Amino acid sequence: MTEALGGKLILIVEDNEKNLKLARDVLQFNGFQTLEADSGEAAVGIAREHLPDLILMDIELPGIDGITALQQLRADSQTAGIPIVALTASAMSADRDRFVGAGFDGYISKPINIKEFPGQVRAHCERATLEPS
Ligand code: MN
Repeated sequence: MTEALGGKLILIVEDNEKNLKLARDVLQFNGFQTLEADSGEAAVGIAREHLPDLILMDIELPGIDGITALQQLRADSQTAGIPIVALTASAMSADRDRFVGAGFDGYISKPINIKEFPGQVRAHCERATLEPS
């Protein structure tokens, strides 16, 4: 059921080990390939090295936060076009507006809903394919 996107490579940036493991397991089960980073600095390095199809970015991270990591990725022509989706525990619409204003391509709420999560990720991958950057 995920054949068309089976090869998509997703970088998960999350410093909470349980959240990271859950996202990884759900994505792998649904046919995605995954990379992991537990800090903003690691995310920037891994993204430059592997050029993933999509990045799921936690906001609150040790060291540089998710917004700063986003800005660094956008400032580098190699990684500027990678779609980056905020993973946020904030349910406040003002925060969500702030993330989109900062340049995120969208957001997914935490805790993730394991039934909806693969479809949400797939939709962001498809949108990125339809709208070449
Ligand atoms: Mn965090």
